[in-house]
Amino acid sequence: MHLSRMLESIEPQLARRLFDKAKQYDNVIDLTLGDPDFATPHNVKDAAIAAMQAGRTKYTANAGILPLRQAIAKDVQTRLGVGYDPEKEIICTIGAMGALYLATVCTLNPGDEMIVLAPHWPNYNNMVKMCHAVPVHVNVYGEENLKNLAENLEKAVSPRSKALILNTPCNPTGQILELAQLRIIADFAKKYDLTIFSDEVYHTILFDGREHHSIIEIEGMKERTILIESLSKRFSMTGWRVGFACAPASIIDYMVQLNEDVAACVPEFCQYGAIEALENGAESAKAMNEGFRKRCRFMTDALNAIPGIRCAESAGTFYLFVDIRDTGMNSMDFCYELLDKAQVAVVPGNAFHESGEGFIRIACTVDIPVLEEAADRIRNFIEKL
Ligand code: PLP
Repeated sequence: MHLSRMLESIEPQLARRLFDKAKQYDNVIDLTLGDPDFATPHNVKDAAIAAMQAGRTKYTANAGILPLRQAIAKDVQTRLGVGYDPEKEIICTIGAMGALYLATVCTLNPGDEMIVLAPHWPNYNNMVKMCHAVPVHVNVYGEENLKNLAENLEKAVSPRSKALILNTPCNPTGQILELAQLRIIADFAKKYDLTIFSDEVYHTILFDGREHHSIIEIEGMKERTILIESLSKRFSMTGWRVGFACAPASIIDYMVQLNEDVAACVPEFCQYGAIEALENGAESAKAMNEGFRKRCRFMTDALNAIPGIRCAESAGTFYLFVDIRDTGMNSMDFCYELLDKAQVAVVPGNAFHESGEGFIRIACTVDIPVLEEAADRIRNFIEKL
């Protein structure tokens, strides 16, 4: 077979590897993937079933059905106070992944650079590399790095920089970017004429009264930002594959054209389910959010009671980024040995960039009694080191 040289640069997905390896063990507690255990809300399932029964099982417009784009426009306007034209500035995609892929392909030329705020969801790297472009990382985890944000961005920029991707709230750290930090990024983007990819797929999963801010709220930023969202985490709809992008018509137009070549559209009945989720799913999302908050807080306390590890409180998402440096082990060995000796599967922090070395990511996607058992096993494992 002929294989593209691009494949040589593609990085393995460590989270998936750990997830696959976990399947070889009995009685394993799997905290690897970001796939919530909550069921998709009943009304959303009912809407999709009704659509299917009514024959909504066909191709749709590449941008998605107009009523869904209208529901998306209303949702974004209500939450962020920014209006998008559902006819020209919105595309419904195969998950946020579809939106990210199309946006990347439509933005980058070979040799271009994409600034990626790190630690980050690993897929960004490969999406950039699929365009024969280069990811350049800026560490934004923790107070010190956030304090030096402007300076660190300046160090990363080059004449080849075309775009910057941010993710707030962040997978894997649970950290959010405040409006002040978004302003620094906005000024930087304007100074160097960068397109911003704003991945906000966890925007509803925020704890203890924290508020979500998007860079599109800042003056002059809607024009240079691709807002990327998804129903996957917000409504526990990971398998439905419904995401979307909102951006200027000049790029959405091409994303819609290319969608014909990669996916055509999101399955029609899933789009009807998505309308129901956006219009009538807020209460369900709120209940799930409260569940994630309780789990994250429980697990943070349980982990902090174990000598040798430290866990910062996450502001949102359902991930905990746990500092294991005092155990003396590196992230990879820790994860493989924890799985082998204690049957708990978690992801090494360096899967999310080298700055994550010395950390592990725990997804609180199981209920509290299971998290309690996981914490007990982690304690026993560490005590025997
Ligand atoms: N962006 C981030 C930060 C994610 O963590 C994920 C999935 O884990 C995605 C995007 C993809 O989401 P979707 O299921 O909508 O494709």
